[in-house]
Amino acid sequence: MNHAHHHGGCADSCCLQVTDLSVRLGGERILEGVNLHMHCGQMVALIGPNGAGKSTLIKAILGQHPYEGSITFHRSNGPEQKLRIGYVPQSPSFDRADPITVLDLFVSCISSRPAFLPVPKALRQTVLDCLKHVRGENLIDKRIGALSGGELQRVLLALALEPMPNLLILDEPLSGVDVEGMALLMDMLHEIRNRFDLSILMITHDFSMLSKYVDRVALLDRSILAIGTPSEVLHSDAFREAFHLGGEKA
Ligand code: ADP
Ligand code: MG
Repeated sequence: MNHAHHHGGCADSCCLQVTDLSVRLGGERILEGVNLHMHCGQMVALIGPNGAGKSTLIKAILGQHPYEGSITFHRSNGPEQKLRIGYVPQSPSFDRADPITVLDLFVSCISSRPAFLPVPKALRQTVLDCLKHVRGENLIDKRIGALSGGELQRVLLALALEPMPNLLILDEPLSGVDVEGMALLMDMLHEIRNRFDLSILMITHDFSMLSKYVDRVALLDRSILAIGTPSEVLHSDAFREAFHLGGEKA
C-alpha cells in the first residue's frame, strides 16, 4: 500500500524523522539544525550545491558519521523500529579492464563463497531474480567495467534491493547516465517504490525530472533551506540564492 498521499499529521506516518541534526567533521560543522521528515512510500529528492553536506547527511542516516540530534525510523502504523536501509553509493568507479562480472560482484556481496569457485545454479538463479527487479537479467555475465553508466546504476540498485529495504537511499544515481538511461532508472524507481512500498531518498543535480517523479524536494546547504513540492522549492528564493540564479523569478 502506498501511504504517501493520505497521511494526516506527522505523528503516525513518519518513516524517517531527522530532528535538529548537527554533524561535525574534522573540527568543522558541516550540518547544523537539519530537520527532515519523510513519510512511508514517499520519493524525496535532496538537492543543494556541491559541498552542501548532502552526502554527509546520508552517511549520518546510515550510521557512518557521528552526529548530534536525533534520527528515528517509524513504520506507518507501528512503533519505532529499526528499518532496513538499502544504499546506492555515489558513482563508484570501476576499471574498464577489470575482469569481474556482474555475477561475480553479486556473489561476493550476497554470499561468502570464494570468487574463484564455480557458481552453483541456485545462486545464479538468485542473482537473476535480483537483476529482474531492474530489468537487468541480460547483464549477469557482463564485465562491470563494460557497463554503461545507466547499466551500472541499475546493477548497484539491484544490489541495494537484496534484501528488500524499507528505505532506499541513492547518492546521485543519475550522474554519468544519459537522458534515456535516466528516464529508465526513474521509471524503475517509481515502479519499485509502488510495488514494494518503500520510501526513497535520492540526491540529485538533475532538476528536470523532479516534477514528474518526486513527491517532495528538500534543499540543503548546511541546513534545510526549503522543503516542499518540486514546484514550491524550484520557484523559491532560497533555490535561486543557493544556485546563484540571479533575481529574476522564473
Ligand atoms: P555534498 O555531497 O553536498 O557535495 P559532502 O557532504 O560530501 O557535500 O561534503 C560537505 C562538506 O563536508 C564539504 O566541505 C567536505 O569537504 C566536507 N567533508 C566531507 N567529508 C568529510 C570528512 N570525512 N572530513 C572532513 N570534512 C569532510
Ligand atoms: Mg555528495
